[in-house]
Amino acid sequence: MTRPLVAIASLGGTISMTPSDAAGGVVPRLDAAQLVAAVPGLGALAELSTESLSQLPSASLGTEQLLACLAWAAEKIAGGARGVVLTQGTDTIEETAFFLDLYWRHPEPLVITGAMRTPLSAGADGPANLLAAVQVAMDDESRGRGVLVVMNDTVHRARWVCKSDSLAVQTFVSPDGGPAGRVVEGRPEYFHAQGHRLLAPSPTRTFPKVAIIPAMLGDDGDLASAALDLGYEAIVVSAFGAGHVSFGFAEQIERVAKTVPVVIASRTGSGATASRTYGFAGSEVDLARRGAILAKWLHPLKARLLLGALLAAQTPREQIPEAFARWSTLPRHSSINPQPQP
Ligand code: GLU
Repeated sequence: MTRPLVAIASLGGTISMTPSDAAGGVVPRLDAAQLVAAVPGLGALAELSTESLSQLPSASLGTEQLLACLAWAAEKIAGGARGVVLTQGTDTIEETAFFLDLYWRHPEPLVITGAMRTPLSAGADGPANLLAAVQVAMDDESRGRGVLVVMNDTVHRARWVCKSDSLAVQTFVSPDGGPAGRVVEGRPEYFHAQGHRLLAPSPTRTFPKVAIIPAMLGDDGDLASAALDLGYEAIVVSAFGAGHVSFGFAEQIERVAKTVPVVIASRTGSGATASRTYGFAGSEVDLARRGAILAKWLHPLKARLLLGALLAAQTPREQIPEAFARWSTLPRHSSINPQPQP
């Protein structure tokens, strides 16, 4: 039987880090071929191509590297890969996965993995994660699901996945949506059929600076005006509870929303913003009246990336609320469509 082709690219992160006396700690050094060599049996499972796209801590990844990853992955699919795997630092996976998923048009899976423990530490999780990622990438059941994150034998969708713990191996969770599936005895088992996917329009300009400004006790949100002075082209407010800010912050939002789009997302880590429950000054009803867009189920980090993508496609300002509503609201079952909608 011919083995499926799976392409693996490394970007850096803990999975690739070894100690450096000069740096005073671990730094990214291993490339994709070295990561593969550390996984017993991986070569027997699939025909693997490996490439090192960068050796960065994931905090220093940016849209340029991610667009290069998309081009690399698309090229590998065109060359016959059944799926592609990216290894990277876990610090930003919840964002990189969402960003890549905005643009991943192929039915073949793009799987992201990493590690919480360095390769030389006891119980290093990188090899098991890479093995599971390849098993997910080569499985037909993974097709049409977009970008998936595989860590700790659990499969997460880009839409929901969040890093929940700074150091624990079981850090990745999917609040609200739940994990997509689990890897059991070497194969992914999915809890649901593949669902609704949306794609962002292709970028036609560079990605804008989009700020996230938190609502904080006793704060009047004047960072929102400062962000405009610094050249930010849109603002996401990481709001209290179901989408709330102080009286002063509400006034800032009204002022700023006259110039740039302002999105209100919840800072709580799970749950949706409300839309018709609270009426006090600074409530979700009040902020919507003042021109803000409610992010509903999108967390601030994901709302920021969507807003950036809409602006990078030069979406007219008046169309942004409607585009956001499509992304932030859950699909009705009657509209579930396995084909991605641009
Ligand atoms: N804990 C992170 C990791 O898993 C630190 C470094 C990074 O994100 O690149 O890789």
